[in-house]
Amino acid sequence: MGACAMGLSDAPLSIYIHIPFCSVRCSYCAFNTYTDLNRLIPDYVDALCRDLVFAARHNPHETVHSVYFGGGTPSLLPAEQFGRLLDQLRCSFALPSDCEISLEANPDNLTGGYLKDLRRLGFNRLSIGMQSADAAILRMFDRQHDLAAVAAAMNAARRAGFDNVNLDVIFASPNETLADWRRTVETVLQFEPEHVSMYGLELKGGTVLRQRVDAGELPKPDDDLFADMYELASAYLEAGGYCQYEISNWRRPGKECRHNLQYWRNLAYIGVGAGAHGFAGGYRYSTIAAPERYISALGGEMAKPAPFPLTPAVAKYSLLDAAEEMYETVMMGMRLTREGIDLPRFMARFGRDFLDIFAPSVARLEALGLIETTSDRLRLSRAGRLLSNAVIREFVESLSQPE
Ligand code: SF4
Repeated sequence: MGACAMGLSDAPLSIYIHIPFCSVRCSYCAFNTYTDLNRLIPDYVDALCRDLVFAARHNPHETVHSVYFGGGTPSLLPAEQFGRLLDQLRCSFALPSDCEISLEANPDNLTGGYLKDLRRLGFNRLSIGMQSADAAILRMFDRQHDLAAVAAAMNAARRAGFDNVNLDVIFASPNETLADWRRTVETVLQFEPEHVSMYGLELKGGTVLRQRVDAGELPKPDDDLFADMYELASAYLEAGGYCQYEISNWRRPGKECRHNLQYWRNLAYIGVGAGAHGFAGGYRYSTIAAPERYISALGGEMAKPAPFPLTPAVAKYSLLDAAEEMYETVMMGMRLTREGIDLPRFMARFGRDFLDIFAPSVARLEALGLIETTSDRLRLSRAGRLLSNAVIREFVESLSQPE
């Protein structure tokens, strides 16, 4: 498999914009974000606008169907700065009126006036970091909001006209009991968001929480409890009318996150901003992580012409071959619990039949009851969702075996 897969440049593009500023670092956070650089915001927004201009050169995609501002805490940016960014986006790319434009936000930033400004600018989706309904857990996470702030943010969002809101929650925190988690899930349901993202806590290296667990100050999350919490939430969300479509994501009808689907389908997106990642034009790449260096890299012209989507802010890139692209497509696609691997789409993209390439793994995993196949798709079974990492590993390892 030498040549690159075909046919992605005629599909719509997505754009991720990273805002690397936070007021306080949460104890579990390992993202590329800074708590002492807010003074850079105006220069950073200038740099983002220049980065968008560079990225748009030679863009073969006709339209952009999702834009996602992630962080960091994008909701720290004043509405005027978003106005400049959206003007630049509309000037450099074709954004149809139904383009999904999402903002990741902390509840305590979401006042009524700010939300109305965001709606007026074209934002139509919010992803609010609720994380837990439990005051002790929020304190352990060093979150700056309480549950009342989430309720106020939800009310303000509805009043401002947002009808597509996600709540992010974390489970399996140290000392969290099944009853604590049930209260969080019930509270989420009371807020009636259109979308719920639910992640098991990851104790990433370098975080305060990981240090506290390693030092024995807090207990390690328990694997059995983790599974019970996942199943409890799945059952409650399903009973509440939510449909699971990804290992960690549930939605009301028609409210899938278009932007995240782009990642899971391994389709093209550009990443702008400090430490952003992108996949477009066959390139997988990442940008300069430090905001000051990101800003100065965008101060001049390109030293030499670069193909779409590379810009002066790109720090690392590689042109994927078809085998690497297939590997990533399988890894991401298996996360989609309804859609899974779309077999005709896989054939159109790679010119090869998924079921032929992976015949031994498919037979093994089917016999174990971890996957299910229909005439046009292959996906995790209900039992396979909790063992998704092992199932995905089985597929990707069999790809690295010599043919
Ligand atoms: S708000 Fe998000 S990005 Fe900022 S420190 Fe907390 S988890 Fe990290």
